[in-house]
Amino acid sequence: MILSIESSCDDSSIAITEIATNRLIYHKKISQELQHSVYGGVVPELAARLHVEALPKILEECKEYFPKLKAIAVTNAPGLSVTLMEGVTMAKALAISLNLPLIAVNHLKGHIYSLFIEKDSILPLTVLLVSGGHTQIIEVNSLSAMKILASTMDDSFGESFDKVAKMMDLGYPGGPVIQELSFNGDSQKFDFPVPLRQSPKIEFSYSGLKNAVRVEIEKQGILSDEMKADICASFQRTAVEHIMQKLKKLFKQHAPKNFAIVGGASANVCLRGEVEKLCGKYATALMLSELKYCSDNAAMIGRVAVEQYKVSDFIKIDELDVQTRVKVF
Ligand code: ATP
Ligand code: FE
Repeated sequence: MILSIESSCDDSSIAITEIATNRLIYHKKISQELQHSVYGGVVPELAARLHVEALPKILEECKEYFPKLKAIAVTNAPGLSVTLMEGVTMAKALAISLNLPLIAVNHLKGHIYSLFIEKDSILPLTVLLVSGGHTQIIEVNSLSAMKILASTMDDSFGESFDKVAKMMDLGYPGGPVIQELSFNGDSQKFDFPVPLRQSPKIEFSYSGLKNAVRVEIEKQGILSDEMKADICASFQRTAVEHIMQKLKKLFKQHAPKNFAIVGGASANVCLRGEVEKLCGKYATALMLSELKYCSDNAAMIGRVAVEQYKVSDFIKIDELDVQTRVKVF
């Protein structure tokens, strides 16, 4: 079995995965969303302190599995450096005390492999990664052969939901609350500009849309609940339309056999629905992670670690460091 640790942002999570079967033996996550919500975003210092509290609490529950462990895995990049360090320090201490090899896992590969938790992997695959820090289209041939086909030039899809929510004091994270309010809103009420509509390139940008929403909010002054719902619905429609316009271009050029959406924002119902339609049109098989595995968790880190264990992709204790920005490969 492999013990995996995730602490790249505001979720403290530990999982135990059986190497031979990919079976999840243990999995727990303590989220800090409530504590950060009042600030409208993640406060790194506070997040690190909360990991110090939560990670050992979870670890205590897995002590019975220690004799069965073959390796310790940990997210080391990308993420907030102060929070990544909490997981990495714990992983190093465990590796030393239990005399086990260490596996460094890329968090973005984790999001991609959230598709394969307790399952065999299906590759090759084209993936739309939409999370708090990333908006990318990635061609996945294997765990070690991935190619970024498109990225965002500025804000990410999820981040734009967080920022728009903050503008209206809706708390953090913004994605779920905006989605919820949108159900009661008029998505045609505001005609926000779809980013990069005229550009032939397949790339993303969310700062212009975010600013257009900001200008509208300032123009409206005091917002009624109805107005907030209309702004949410119109923003969400435009944010999803931007992704869909670019995906349609991609599919037109070369429709993939297998497609997937991963990352925290892949929980978005509107986005899922539109991508389902597009895949249906091109007879592309669509893979989605279970909702509980869309946001950050250690089960997805453990799933990647199983693959790395099988090819002895270990890292020396003194070579394991954290990196705040890193690509998927
Ligand atoms: P990264 O993985 O890029 O390092 P992260 O780990 O912070 O970033 P995730 O936890 O994967 O990001 O996803 C969180 C993001 O997903 C937040 O920005 C949140 O607002 C967004 N999100 C969650 N649910 C939804 C939803 N239903 N609609 C839109 N966005 C959503
Ligand atoms: Fe993430």
